[in-house]
Amino acid sequence: MQFTRIKAGTDGSLGSGPYRRLILKGVTVIDGTGAPAYGPADIVIENDRIHSIISAGRNTDMTQMGQRAEADAQVMDLTGHYVMPGLIDAHAHIPCAEQGPDADYAYKLWLGHGITTVREPGCIGNGLDFSLREARRSDANEITAPRIVAYSAFGAGRGEPFRTPKDAAEWVSGEADKGAKGIKFFGAPPEIFEAAITEANRLGLGTACHHAASDVARVNALTTARWGLSSIEHGYGLPESMFADRRVQRFPGSYNYNNEHDRFAYLGRLWREAAEPGSGLWDDTIAELVSLGTTLDPTLVVYVASRDAARARGREYHRDFSAPQSWKFFQPDPENHGSYFYDWGTEEEVAWKENYRLWMAFVRDFYYRGGRLVVGSDAGFIYNLYGFGLIEEMELLREAGLQPLEIIQCATSAAAGLLGLDDTGAVEPGKRADLLVTAENPLANLKTLYGHGHLRMSADGTLSRSGGVTHTIKDGVVFDAVRLRSDVRDVVAGERERLGVPAPYTP
Ligand SMILES: [Zn+2]
Repeated sequence: MQFTRIKAGTDGSLGSGPYRRLILKGVTVIDGTGAPAYGPADIVIENDRIHSIISAGRNTDMTQMGQRAEADAQVMDLTGHYVMPGLIDAHAHIPCAEQGPDADYAYKLWLGHGITTVREPGCIGNGLDFSLREARRSDANEITAPRIVAYSAFGAGRGEPFRTPKDAAEWVSGEADKGAKGIKFFGAPPEIFEAAITEANRLGLGTACHHAASDVARVNALTTARWGLSSIEHGYGLPESMFADRRVQRFPGSYNYNNEHDRFAYLGRLWREAAEPGSGLWDDTIAELVSLGTTLDPTLVVYVASRDAARARGREYHRDFSAPQSWKFFQPDPENHGSYFYDWGTEEEVAWKENYRLWMAFVRDFYYRGGRLVVGSDAGFIYNLYGFGLIEEMELLREAGLQPLEIIQCATSAAAGLLGLDDTGAVEPGKRADLLVTAENPLANLKTLYGHGHLRMSADGTLSRSGGVTHTIKDGVVFDAVRLRSDVRDVVAGERERLGVPAPYTP
């Protein structure tokens, strides 16, 4: 399909600050390193940095320190709130015009969910130059947007295939000169692919690969990991690294990769063709990936519609937050990538449930044996919306067996490590003030982080929605997350009226 470039972020930041001195008072801190929550604490921010954290049990002379800190500072009384590092969506595409009304729509949903950094793997919809410009405007606080780490798609703009390894290396170095922070691959002939990864590593660029089925027989996830790939996206290429009695997945004779029903129906039958959990090959593969330092970015959420399509179509947030463009893009259509529910039946869903069981077991074993795991949503595809998708990814990691503290570590400090951003991803003195503030305890219930809130019955029997991020702080700039989400609601209602389409409904 053809993508149309989206309208860039509008001028002006809706945030306030950064402040010479800002104090977040009376909060409970989840620091993002995996340490347990503690509080009450006062977080002192100076300009774009966390200056100090004043908390009983950590500082001896609290009152004095507190008074000294408060003199001549902006104070936010956040008694009872939780503060954690801003989330990092490690797989987040800025929508193209077919997927949303404008870039602000996604930016506000990201910030509205406490996401302060996104990695844009490939910039396919709008091009690298667009994402780099938006990244600079976000850094300068000219727009209301998270920090954007832009990767170039391998071969983008070249117009012809790579003929030699040298071509590939030269192209990579050209992208680095433009300002790309990494390269996103889908697959390539082995010599070309290896040369590109080697050059990227030499230049300090990140590398990410979606191991497309079209290339995986030659180059699987273990092959690229051995070449020094930074992150394996989705789950592709991992089962193929653990085939014991075949080299290629057993497709039926009629299989056609360009038919997305075939492609996704058989993807749902892939993990059961690989070595079993706990087998020698399974354990050896994990051990090698861990020792190579390869990161997994499973994006479990983007395919989860495959195991229960009706549930994904009916996600509660669509009613208020899915723009007509997004909703249209999600509908079954061979022209839209990932919109493959032409005739999705029980057999496909049952296969995918088993596929998830095995895939999640791999993710859990990899993490518990020391591997770096990050959290990415790939939102914008398959009924999976910006911001909301990352929270659902965290819930899916909970289903895979990780604890909330571990999941938050993956979504913050681990992801910062992958992106080479060592000054963010933790609530610690000296780090950037990239923070998520919420009135509820996310460790008790991750659902309270969803922008549409969590449905709960109060003592008198009334039902109401509570939760959601209250403030997102990026580089010391404070955004009212509730207001950003309400802006999005208004934009979505306005777009529906302008285009004359109803709220999402299932035919
Ligand atoms: Zn993607």
